[in-house]
Amino acid sequence: MSKRDIINPFNQAVIATLEDATPADALAAVRAARRAFDAGEWPQWTPVHRAELLREVADLLARNKSDLARWETVDTGKTLVESEIDVDDVVSVFRYYADLATRDHTRTVDAGPGVVSQVRYEPVGVCVLITPWNYPLLQASWKVAPALAAGNTMVVKPSEVTPLTTIKLVELIEQAGVPAGVVNLVLGAGPEVGPVLTSAPEVDLVSFTGGLRTGQTIMRSAADTVKKIALELGGKNPNIVFADADFEAAVDHALTGVFLHAGQVCSAGTRLIVHEELHDAFVAELVRRAENIQLGNGLAPDSRSGPLVSAEHRAKVERHVAQGLAEGATLLTGGRRPDDPELQAGFFYLPTIFDHCRRDMSIVQEETFGPILTVETFTTEDEAVELGNDTDYGLAGAVWTADRERGRRVARRLRHGTVWINDFGPYLPGAEWGGFKRSGIGRELGPTGLAEYQEAKHVYENT
Ligand code: NAD
Repeated sequence: MSKRDIINPFNQAVIATLEDATPADALAAVRAARRAFDAGEWPQWTPVHRAELLREVADLLARNKSDLARWETVDTGKTLVESEIDVDDVVSVFRYYADLATRDHTRTVDAGPGVVSQVRYEPVGVCVLITPWNYPLLQASWKVAPALAAGNTMVVKPSEVTPLTTIKLVELIEQAGVPAGVVNLVLGAGPEVGPVLTSAPEVDLVSFTGGLRTGQTIMRSAADTVKKIALELGGKNPNIVFADADFEAAVDHALTGVFLHAGQVCSAGTRLIVHEELHDAFVAELVRRAENIQLGNGLAPDSRSGPLVSAEHRAKVERHVAQGLAEGATLLTGGRRPDDPELQAGFFYLPTIFDHCRRDMSIVQEETFGPILTVETFTTEDEAVELGNDTDYGLAGAVWTADRERGRRVARRLRHGTVWINDFGPYLPGAEWGGFKRSGIGRELGPTGLAEYQEAKHVYENT
Protein backbone atom coordinates (compact mmCIF):
# COMPACT_ATOMS: atom_id res chain seq x y z
CA MET A 1 0.00 0.00 0.00
CA SER A 2 1.24 3.48 -0.67
CA LYS A 3 0.59 6.57 1.41
CA ARG A 4 -1.03 9.71 0.05
CA ASP A 5 -0.98 13.19 1.56
CA ILE A 6 -4.22 15.11 1.38
CA ILE A 7 -3.51 18.79 0.85
CA ASN A 8 -5.39 21.95 1.80
CA PRO A 9 -5.40 23.87 -1.50
CA PHE A 10 -5.40 27.19 0.37
CA ASN A 11 -1.91 26.74 1.84
CA GLN A 12 -0.69 23.27 0.77
CA ALA A 13 -0.71 22.08 4.38
CA VAL A 14 -1.01 18.31 4.76
CA ILE A 15 -4.37 17.72 6.44
CA ALA A 16 -4.35 13.92 6.36
CA THR A 17 -2.22 11.04 5.20
CA LEU A 18 -4.16 8.07 3.92
CA GLU A 19 -3.32 4.69 2.50
CA ASP A 20 -4.33 4.01 -1.06
CA ALA A 21 -6.09 0.74 -1.73
CA THR A 22 -4.54 -1.78 -4.08
CA PRO A 23 -6.46 -3.48 -6.90
CA ALA A 24 -6.65 -6.55 -4.63
CA ASP A 25 -8.27 -4.43 -1.89
CA ALA A 26 -10.75 -3.10 -4.45
CA LEU A 27 -11.67 -6.64 -5.47
CA ALA A 28 -12.08 -7.64 -1.82
CA ALA A 29 -14.47 -4.70 -1.36
CA VAL A 30 -16.50 -5.77 -4.41
CA ARG A 31 -16.69 -9.33 -3.08
CA ALA A 32 -17.78 -8.13 0.36
CA ALA A 33 -20.58 -6.17 -1.31
CA ARG A 34 -21.54 -9.24 -3.36
CA ARG A 35 -21.72 -11.47 -0.27
CA ALA A 36 -23.77 -8.88 1.61
CA PHE A 37 -26.20 -8.72 -1.30
CA ASP A 38 -26.47 -12.45 -1.98
CA ALA A 39 -26.35 -13.86 1.51
CA GLY A 40 -26.51 -11.07 4.08
CA GLU A 41 -29.42 -9.73 6.10
CA TRP A 42 -29.72 -6.49 4.08
CA PRO A 43 -31.96 -7.86 1.30
CA GLN A 44 -34.41 -8.97 4.02
CA TRP A 45 -34.82 -5.45 5.34
CA THR A 46 -38.20 -3.97 4.50
CA PRO A 47 -38.36 -0.60 2.69
CA VAL A 48 -39.65 0.94 5.94
CA HIS A 49 -36.64 -0.38 7.83
CA ARG A 50 -34.28 0.94 5.16
CA ALA A 51 -36.00 4.32 5.28
CA GLU A 52 -35.43 4.47 9.04
CA LEU A 53 -31.72 3.94 8.43
CA LEU A 54 -31.66 6.73 5.83
CA ARG A 55 -33.42 9.09 8.24
CA GLU A 56 -30.90 8.22 10.94
CA VAL A 57 -28.06 9.00 8.49
CA ALA A 58 -29.73 12.34 7.69
CA ASP A 59 -29.95 13.17 11.41
CA LEU A 60 -26.29 12.24 11.96
CA LEU A 61 -25.21 14.36 8.99
CA ALA A 62 -27.20 17.31 10.34
CA ARG A 63 -25.66 16.87 13.80
CA ASN A 64 -22.15 16.78 12.31
CA LYS A 65 -22.78 19.69 9.96
CA SER A 66 -20.10 22.04 11.24
CA ASP A 67 -17.35 19.36 11.28
CA LEU A 68 -18.33 18.10 7.83
CA ALA A 69 -18.42 21.62 6.42
CA ARG A 70 -14.97 22.45 7.83
CA TRP A 71 -13.46 19.28 6.38
CA GLU A 72 -15.05 19.94 3.03
CA THR A 73 -13.59 23.44 3.02
CA VAL A 74 -10.04 22.48 3.97
CA ASP A 75 -10.13 19.58 1.52
CA THR A 76 -11.63 21.38 -1.52
CA GLY A 77 -10.87 25.05 -0.81
CA LYS A 78 -14.50 26.14 -1.22
CA THR A 79 -15.95 28.64 1.24
CA LEU A 80 -17.49 27.47 4.48
CA VAL A 81 -20.88 28.88 3.44
CA GLU A 82 -20.80 26.73 0.30
CA SER A 83 -19.78 23.66 2.31
CA GLU A 84 -22.63 24.26 4.75
CA ILE A 85 -25.10 24.50 1.87
CA ASP A 86 -23.74 21.17 0.58
CA VAL A 87 -24.35 19.50 3.96
CA ASP A 88 -27.90 20.88 4.12
CA ASP A 89 -28.48 19.54 0.64
CA VAL A 90 -27.29 16.02 1.44
CA VAL A 91 -29.44 15.92 4.57
CA SER A 92 -32.48 16.71 2.37
CA VAL A 93 -31.42 14.11 -0.17
CA PHE A 94 -31.25 11.33 2.44
CA ARG A 95 -34.67 12.38 3.76
CA TYR A 96 -36.14 12.56 0.26
CA TYR A 97 -35.03 9.02 -0.59
CA ALA A 98 -36.19 7.74 2.82
CA ASP A 99 -39.68 8.95 1.91
CA LEU A 100 -39.52 7.60 -1.63
CA ALA A 101 -38.30 4.17 -0.44
CA THR A 102 -41.42 3.60 1.61
CA ARG A 103 -43.82 4.23 -1.25
CA ASP A 104 -44.99 1.04 -2.96
CA HIS A 105 -44.06 1.47 -6.60
CA THR A 106 -45.59 -1.87 -7.70
CA ARG A 107 -47.76 -1.42 -10.78
CA THR A 108 -50.61 -3.69 -11.75
CA VAL A 109 -51.17 -4.05 -15.48
CA ASP A 110 -54.57 -5.03 -16.82
CA ALA A 111 -54.05 -8.37 -18.59
CA GLY A 112 -57.65 -9.57 -18.81
CA PRO A 113 -59.50 -12.26 -16.81
CA GLY A 114 -57.53 -15.05 -15.15
CA VAL A 115 -54.25 -13.14 -15.09
CA VAL A 116 -52.52 -11.05 -12.46
CA SER A 117 -49.76 -8.99 -14.03
CA GLN A 118 -47.52 -6.94 -11.80
CA VAL A 119 -44.40 -4.88 -12.33
CA ARG A 120 -42.18 -4.77 -9.25
CA TYR A 121 -39.00 -2.86 -8.61
CA GLU A 122 -36.03 -4.68 -7.13
CA PRO A 123 -32.47 -3.64 -6.31
CA VAL A 124 -29.92 -3.96 -9.12
CA GLY A 125 -27.35 -5.65 -6.84
CA VAL A 126 -23.77 -4.50 -6.32
CA CYS A 127 -23.19 -0.87 -7.27
CA VAL A 128 -19.84 0.89 -7.73
CA LEU A 129 -20.15 4.61 -7.03
CA ILE A 130 -17.28 6.80 -8.25
CA THR A 131 -17.20 10.52 -7.47
CA PRO A 132 -15.15 13.64 -8.36
CA TRP A 133 -13.30 16.17 -6.20
CA ASN A 134 -15.45 19.26 -6.54
CA TYR A 135 -18.55 18.31 -4.52
CA PRO A 136 -17.28 15.24 -2.66
CA LEU A 137 -19.94 14.82 0.03
CA LEU A 138 -22.79 15.94 -2.18
CA GLN A 139 -21.91 13.74 -5.16
CA ALA A 140 -21.41 10.69 -2.95
CA SER A 141 -24.75 11.28 -1.23
CA TRP A 142 -26.66 11.70 -4.50
CA LYS A 143 -25.57 8.12 -5.27
CA VAL A 144 -25.42 6.41 -1.87
CA ALA A 145 -28.86 7.56 -0.66
CA PRO A 146 -30.90 6.19 -3.60
CA ALA A 147 -28.68 3.08 -3.88
CA LEU A 148 -29.41 2.27 -0.22
CA ALA A 149 -33.08 3.21 -0.53
CA ALA A 150 -33.45 0.70 -3.36
CA GLY A 151 -31.77 -2.06 -1.29
CA ASN A 152 -28.42 -2.41 -3.07
CA THR A 153 -24.97 -3.03 -1.66
CA MET A 154 -22.12 -0.86 -2.83
CA VAL A 155 -18.49 0.15 -3.14
CA VAL A 156 -17.87 3.88 -2.83
CA LYS A 157 -14.75 5.32 -4.51
CA PRO A 158 -14.24 9.02 -3.78
CA SER A 159 -11.71 11.18 -5.60
CA GLU A 160 -8.20 10.65 -4.28
CA VAL A 161 -7.87 14.46 -4.21
CA THR A 162 -10.72 15.13 -1.72
CA PRO A 163 -11.75 11.94 0.11
CA LEU A 164 -12.27 13.25 3.68
CA THR A 165 -16.01 13.85 3.89
CA THR A 166 -16.82 10.62 2.04
CA ILE A 167 -14.84 8.72 4.68
CA LYS A 168 -16.93 10.50 7.31
CA LEU A 169 -20.17 9.76 5.44
CA VAL A 170 -19.39 6.03 5.41
CA GLU A 171 -18.58 6.17 9.13
CA LEU A 172 -21.92 7.85 9.84
CA ILE A 173 -23.78 5.25 7.78
CA GLU A 174 -22.08 2.53 9.85
CA GLN A 175 -22.99 4.41 13.02
CA ALA A 176 -26.61 4.47 11.83
CA GLY A 177 -26.54 0.66 11.82
CA VAL A 178 -26.09 -0.50 8.25
CA PRO A 179 -25.14 -4.21 8.16
CA ALA A 180 -21.50 -5.10 7.47
CA GLY A 181 -20.57 -5.34 3.80
CA VAL A 182 -23.42 -3.15 2.51
CA VAL A 183 -21.35 0.05 2.14
CA ASN A 184 -17.65 -0.44 1.35
CA LEU A 185 -15.09 2.28 0.86
CA VAL A 186 -12.14 2.14 -1.52
CA LEU A 187 -9.61 4.98 -1.49
CA GLY A 188 -6.93 5.65 -4.04
CA ALA A 189 -6.11 6.67 -7.58
CA GLY A 190 -8.79 6.05 -10.19
CA PRO A 191 -6.49 4.53 -12.83
CA GLU A 192 -5.13 2.14 -10.14
CA VAL A 193 -8.30 0.75 -8.55
CA GLY A 194 -10.87 1.89 -11.15
CA PRO A 195 -10.35 -0.87 -13.73
CA VAL A 196 -11.08 -3.62 -11.16
CA LEU A 197 -14.15 -1.82 -9.85
CA THR A 198 -15.60 -1.20 -13.29
CA SER A 199 -14.88 -4.59 -14.83
CA ALA A 200 -15.35 -7.14 -12.01
CA PRO A 201 -18.10 -9.60 -12.94
CA GLU A 202 -19.51 -9.31 -9.40
CA VAL A 203 -20.52 -5.68 -10.06
CA ASP A 204 -23.96 -4.98 -11.58
CA LEU A 205 -23.91 -1.21 -11.94
CA VAL A 206 -21.39 1.62 -12.14
CA SER A 207 -22.52 5.14 -11.38
CA PHE A 208 -19.85 7.70 -12.16
CA THR A 209 -19.58 11.47 -11.83
CA GLY A 210 -16.50 13.08 -13.31
CA GLY A 211 -14.82 14.04 -16.53
CA LEU A 212 -15.83 13.00 -20.05
CA ARG A 213 -12.64 11.04 -20.80
CA THR A 214 -12.86 9.03 -17.58
CA GLY A 215 -16.53 8.35 -18.32
CA GLN A 216 -15.62 6.97 -21.73
CA THR A 217 -12.90 4.74 -20.19
CA ILE A 218 -15.39 3.44 -17.63
CA MET A 219 -18.01 2.66 -20.28
CA ARG A 220 -15.45 0.60 -22.20
CA SER A 221 -14.32 -1.18 -19.06
CA ALA A 222 -17.89 -2.05 -18.10
CA ALA A 223 -18.88 -3.21 -21.59
CA ASP A 224 -17.62 -6.80 -21.45
CA THR A 225 -19.88 -7.67 -18.55
CA VAL A 226 -22.72 -5.38 -19.74
CA LYS A 227 -23.04 -3.47 -16.49
CA LYS A 228 -25.66 -0.83 -16.07
CA ILE A 229 -24.03 2.55 -16.43
CA ALA A 230 -24.94 5.97 -15.13
CA LEU A 231 -22.68 8.88 -16.08
CA GLU A 232 -22.76 12.48 -14.90
CA LEU A 233 -20.09 14.23 -16.94
CA GLY A 234 -19.08 17.75 -17.77
CA GLY A 235 -20.84 20.81 -19.07
CA LYS A 236 -20.30 23.96 -21.09
CA ASN A 237 -23.36 25.74 -19.91
CA PRO A 238 -24.94 28.73 -21.69
CA ASN A 239 -26.35 31.65 -19.76
CA ILE A 240 -28.56 33.57 -22.21
CA VAL A 241 -29.47 37.16 -21.33
CA PHE A 242 -32.07 39.03 -23.38
CA ALA A 243 -32.14 42.84 -23.49
CA ASP A 244 -35.31 43.00 -21.35
CA ALA A 245 -33.81 40.92 -18.50
CA ASP A 246 -33.81 42.18 -14.91
CA PHE A 247 -30.32 43.68 -15.13
CA GLU A 248 -29.41 43.45 -11.46
CA ALA A 249 -30.55 39.85 -10.96
CA ALA A 250 -29.01 38.71 -14.24
CA VAL A 251 -25.61 40.27 -13.49
CA ASP A 252 -25.62 38.90 -9.98
CA HIS A 253 -26.37 35.34 -11.12
CA ALA A 254 -24.06 35.51 -14.13
CA LEU A 255 -21.27 36.29 -11.69
CA THR A 256 -22.02 33.63 -9.06
CA GLY A 257 -23.08 31.19 -11.79
CA VAL A 258 -19.57 31.10 -13.19
CA PHE A 259 -17.28 32.07 -10.30
CA LEU A 260 -18.83 30.04 -7.46
CA HIS A 261 -16.28 27.51 -6.15
CA ALA A 262 -13.74 29.12 -8.50
CA GLY A 263 -15.71 27.79 -11.46
CA GLN A 264 -15.15 24.18 -10.47
CA VAL A 265 -18.81 23.32 -10.91
CA CYS A 266 -20.14 21.04 -13.64
CA SER A 267 -23.13 23.34 -14.17
CA ALA A 268 -21.13 26.59 -14.07
CA GLY A 269 -22.50 29.22 -16.45
CA THR A 270 -19.26 29.53 -18.40
CA ARG A 271 -20.77 30.83 -21.64
CA LEU A 272 -22.45 34.20 -21.35
CA ILE A 273 -24.63 34.74 -24.43
CA VAL A 274 -25.89 38.30 -24.17
CA HIS A 275 -28.07 40.42 -26.45
CA GLU A 276 -25.90 42.87 -28.34
CA GLU A 277 -27.92 45.88 -27.09
CA LEU A 278 -27.15 44.95 -23.50
CA HIS A 279 -23.61 43.75 -24.08
CA ASP A 280 -21.55 46.83 -23.18
CA ALA A 281 -23.33 47.76 -19.95
CA PHE A 282 -23.70 44.16 -18.82
CA VAL A 283 -20.11 43.14 -19.43
CA ALA A 284 -18.72 46.34 -17.87
CA GLU A 285 -20.69 45.64 -14.69
CA LEU A 286 -19.59 42.00 -14.65
CA VAL A 287 -15.95 43.00 -14.94
CA ARG A 288 -16.34 45.56 -12.14
CA ARG A 289 -17.87 42.97 -9.83
CA ALA A 290 -15.48 40.17 -10.82
CA GLU A 291 -12.57 42.38 -9.80
CA ASN A 292 -14.17 42.84 -6.38
CA ILE A 293 -14.54 39.15 -5.59
CA GLN A 294 -12.61 38.58 -2.39
CA LEU A 295 -10.38 35.52 -2.84
CA GLY A 296 -9.09 33.88 0.30
CA ASN A 297 -9.13 31.07 2.81
CA GLY A 298 -12.47 29.27 2.57
CA LEU A 299 -12.61 29.28 6.37
CA ALA A 300 -12.40 33.10 6.58
CA PRO A 301 -15.86 34.71 6.74
CA ASP A 302 -15.04 37.48 4.25
CA SER A 303 -13.78 35.12 1.49
CA ARG A 304 -16.11 34.89 -1.48
CA SER A 305 -14.08 32.37 -3.44
CA GLY A 306 -11.30 29.93 -2.61
CA PRO A 307 -8.38 28.49 -4.56
CA LEU A 308 -8.43 25.90 -7.32
CA VAL A 309 -8.14 22.36 -6.05
CA SER A 310 -4.55 21.57 -7.05
CA ALA A 311 -1.43 22.76 -8.83
CA GLU A 312 -2.21 20.42 -11.78
CA HIS A 313 -5.67 21.82 -12.10
CA ARG A 314 -4.42 25.42 -12.07
CA ALA A 315 -1.93 24.48 -14.78
CA LYS A 316 -4.87 23.26 -16.90
CA VAL A 317 -6.71 26.55 -16.36
CA GLU A 318 -3.59 28.46 -17.39
CA ARG A 319 -3.29 26.39 -20.57
CA HIS A 320 -6.89 27.21 -21.48
CA VAL A 321 -6.33 30.93 -20.89
CA ALA A 322 -3.25 30.86 -23.12
CA GLN A 323 -5.32 29.11 -25.80
CA GLY A 324 -8.03 31.78 -25.50
CA LEU A 325 -5.48 34.53 -26.03
CA ALA A 326 -3.93 32.69 -28.96
CA GLU A 327 -7.36 32.29 -30.55
CA GLY A 328 -7.93 36.04 -30.39
CA ALA A 329 -10.44 36.42 -27.57
CA THR A 330 -10.24 39.75 -25.72
CA LEU A 331 -9.11 39.40 -22.14
CA LEU A 332 -11.06 41.92 -20.03
CA THR A 333 -9.94 40.92 -16.58
CA GLY A 334 -8.00 38.19 -14.78
CA GLY A 335 -5.99 35.81 -16.89
CA ARG A 336 -3.35 35.39 -14.19
CA ARG A 337 -2.67 34.48 -10.57
CA PRO A 338 -3.38 37.14 -7.90
CA ASP A 339 -0.54 39.32 -6.58
CA ASP A 340 -1.69 39.24 -2.95
CA PRO A 341 1.27 37.83 -0.96
CA GLU A 342 -1.13 36.04 1.39
CA LEU A 343 -2.48 33.94 -1.46
CA GLN A 344 0.83 32.73 -2.85
CA ALA A 345 0.84 29.39 -1.03
CA GLY A 346 -2.59 28.49 -2.45
CA PHE A 347 -3.63 27.50 -5.97
CA PHE A 348 -5.44 30.77 -6.63
CA TYR A 349 -6.44 32.16 -10.00
CA LEU A 350 -8.20 35.43 -10.69
CA PRO A 351 -11.77 35.51 -12.03
CA THR A 352 -11.25 35.81 -15.77
CA ILE A 353 -13.51 37.23 -18.49
CA PHE A 354 -12.94 36.87 -22.22
CA ASP A 355 -14.98 39.04 -24.57
CA HIS A 356 -15.58 38.80 -28.34
CA CYS A 357 -15.57 35.03 -28.25
CA ARG A 358 -16.60 32.90 -31.20
CA ARG A 359 -18.34 29.58 -30.98
CA ASP A 360 -15.45 27.78 -32.72
CA MET A 361 -12.90 28.79 -30.07
CA SER A 362 -11.70 26.02 -27.80
CA ILE A 363 -12.33 28.16 -24.68
CA VAL A 364 -15.98 28.29 -25.77
CA GLN A 365 -16.22 24.57 -26.46
CA GLU A 366 -13.93 22.80 -23.97
CA GLU A 367 -14.70 22.49 -20.29
CA THR A 368 -12.03 24.33 -18.27
CA PHE A 369 -13.59 23.77 -14.87
CA GLY A 370 -12.11 27.02 -13.63
CA PRO A 371 -13.00 30.71 -13.19
CA ILE A 372 -13.27 31.63 -16.87
CA LEU A 373 -16.25 33.31 -18.48
CA THR A 374 -16.54 33.66 -22.26
CA VAL A 375 -18.85 36.28 -23.78
CA GLU A 376 -20.72 35.89 -27.06
CA THR A 377 -23.47 38.15 -28.41
CA PHE A 378 -26.72 37.55 -30.31
CA THR A 379 -29.45 39.59 -31.95
CA THR A 380 -32.38 37.18 -32.48
CA GLU A 381 -34.03 34.54 -30.34
CA ASP A 382 -33.17 31.84 -32.88
CA GLU A 383 -29.53 32.85 -32.75
CA ALA A 384 -29.52 32.72 -28.94
CA VAL A 385 -30.95 29.20 -28.96
CA GLU A 386 -28.54 28.08 -31.65
CA LEU A 387 -25.54 29.36 -29.68
CA GLY A 388 -26.93 27.85 -26.47
CA ASN A 389 -27.14 24.45 -28.12
CA ASP A 390 -23.82 24.70 -29.92
CA THR A 391 -21.92 22.41 -27.59
CA ASP A 392 -21.26 18.68 -27.36
CA TYR A 393 -22.40 18.91 -23.75
CA GLY A 394 -25.96 19.35 -22.47
CA LEU A 395 -25.97 19.65 -18.72
CA ALA A 396 -27.55 22.98 -17.81
CA GLY A 397 -28.42 26.42 -19.10
CA ALA A 398 -30.31 29.56 -18.21
CA VAL A 399 -32.38 32.20 -19.93
CA TRP A 400 -33.06 35.70 -18.61
CA THR A 401 -35.98 37.70 -19.98
CA ALA A 402 -38.99 39.69 -18.76
CA ASP A 403 -41.08 37.99 -21.43
CA ARG A 404 -42.47 34.85 -19.82
CA GLU A 405 -43.54 33.24 -23.07
CA ARG A 406 -40.13 33.79 -24.57
CA GLY A 407 -38.43 32.32 -21.49
CA ARG A 408 -40.53 29.18 -21.77
CA ARG A 409 -40.05 28.93 -25.52
CA VAL A 410 -36.28 29.13 -25.19
CA ALA A 411 -36.29 26.65 -22.29
CA ARG A 412 -38.18 24.15 -24.48
CA ARG A 413 -35.66 24.51 -27.27
CA LEU A 414 -32.47 24.23 -25.20
CA ARG A 415 -31.00 20.71 -25.26
CA HIS A 416 -29.78 20.66 -21.66
CA GLY A 417 -30.81 18.53 -18.67
CA THR A 418 -31.67 21.53 -16.48
CA VAL A 419 -32.86 24.93 -17.69
CA TRP A 420 -33.33 27.86 -15.33
CA ILE A 421 -35.56 30.77 -16.30
CA ASN A 422 -34.57 34.00 -14.53
CA ASP A 423 -32.34 32.11 -12.12
CA PHE A 424 -29.07 30.23 -12.14
CA GLY A 425 -28.03 27.21 -10.14
CA PRO A 426 -30.80 25.81 -7.93
CA TYR A 427 -31.37 22.07 -7.80
CA LEU A 428 -33.92 20.10 -5.78
CA PRO A 429 -33.80 16.57 -4.32
CA GLY A 430 -37.08 15.81 -6.09
CA ALA A 431 -36.05 17.10 -9.55
CA GLU A 432 -33.91 15.02 -11.90
CA TRP A 433 -30.33 16.13 -12.55
CA GLY A 434 -28.22 15.00 -15.49
CA GLY A 435 -27.16 15.62 -19.01
CA PHE A 436 -28.24 15.49 -22.61
CA LYS A 437 -25.61 14.57 -25.19
CA ARG A 438 -22.07 14.08 -23.83
CA SER A 439 -22.98 15.35 -20.39
CA GLY A 440 -23.97 11.84 -19.49
CA ILE A 441 -26.33 8.92 -19.32
CA GLY A 442 -29.17 8.65 -16.83
CA ARG A 443 -30.30 10.96 -14.07
CA GLU A 444 -29.62 11.56 -10.41
CA LEU A 445 -32.14 12.91 -7.90
CA GLY A 446 -35.90 12.66 -8.25
CA PRO A 447 -37.77 9.38 -8.86
CA THR A 448 -35.50 8.60 -11.84
CA GLY A 449 -32.52 8.82 -9.47
CA LEU A 450 -34.05 5.91 -7.53
CA ALA A 451 -35.06 4.00 -10.66
CA GLU A 452 -31.39 4.00 -11.76
CA TYR A 453 -30.73 1.61 -8.87
CA GLN A 454 -33.69 -0.68 -9.55
CA GLU A 455 -34.56 -3.47 -11.94
CA ALA A 456 -38.15 -3.72 -13.14
CA LYS A 457 -39.51 -7.25 -12.86
CA HIS A 458 -42.74 -8.24 -14.57
CA VAL A 459 -44.53 -11.11 -12.79
CA TYR A 460 -47.30 -12.57 -14.96
CA GLU A 461 -49.43 -14.98 -13.02
CA ASN A 462 -51.96 -17.23 -14.64
CA THR A 463 -54.63 -17.77 -12.00
P1 NAD B 1 -12.15 12.64 -13.04
O1 NAD B 1 -12.88 12.04 -14.18
O2 NAD B 1 -10.70 12.89 -13.17
O3 NAD B 1 -12.27 11.72 -11.74
C1 NAD B 1 -13.52 11.37 -11.19
C2 NAD B 1 -13.38 10.08 -10.41
O4 NAD B 1 -13.04 9.02 -11.31
C3 NAD B 1 -12.29 10.11 -9.34
O5 NAD B 1 -12.75 9.41 -8.19
C4 NAD B 1 -11.16 9.34 -10.01
O6 NAD B 1 -10.29 8.73 -9.09
C5 NAD B 1 -11.94 8.31 -10.78
N1 NAD B 1 -11.21 7.69 -11.90
C6 NAD B 1 -10.20 8.21 -12.64
N2 NAD B 1 -9.80 7.31 -13.57
C7 NAD B 1 -10.59 6.22 -13.43
C8 NAD B 1 -10.67 4.97 -14.11
N3 NAD B 1 -9.87 4.64 -15.11
N4 NAD B 1 -11.60 4.08 -13.67
C9 NAD B 1 -12.43 4.37 -12.68
N5 NAD B 1 -12.40 5.53 -11.99
C10 NAD B 1 -11.48 6.45 -12.37
O7 NAD B 1 -12.96 13.95 -12.68
P2 NAD B 1 -12.57 15.06 -11.63
O8 NAD B 1 -11.43 15.82 -12.21
O9 NAD B 1 -12.47 14.46 -10.27
O10 NAD B 1 -13.89 15.96 -11.62
C11 NAD B 1 -14.11 16.97 -12.56
C12 NAD B 1 -15.09 16.51 -13.61
O11 NAD B 1 -16.30 16.06 -13.02
C13 NAD B 1 -15.51 17.65 -14.51
O12 NAD B 1 -15.46 17.26 -15.87
C14 NAD B 1 -16.95 17.94 -14.11
O13 NAD B 1 -17.74 18.52 -15.08
C15 NAD B 1 -17.43 16.60 -13.69
N6 NAD B 1 -18.56 16.72 -12.78
C16 NAD B 1 -19.83 16.46 -13.26
C17 NAD B 1 -20.93 16.60 -12.42
C18 NAD B 1 -22.34 16.35 -12.92
O14 NAD B 1 -23.25 16.29 -12.12
N7 NAD B 1 -22.55 16.19 -14.20
C19 NAD B 1 -20.74 16.97 -11.10
C20 NAD B 1 -19.46 17.22 -10.64
C21 NAD B 1 -18.37 17.08 -11.50
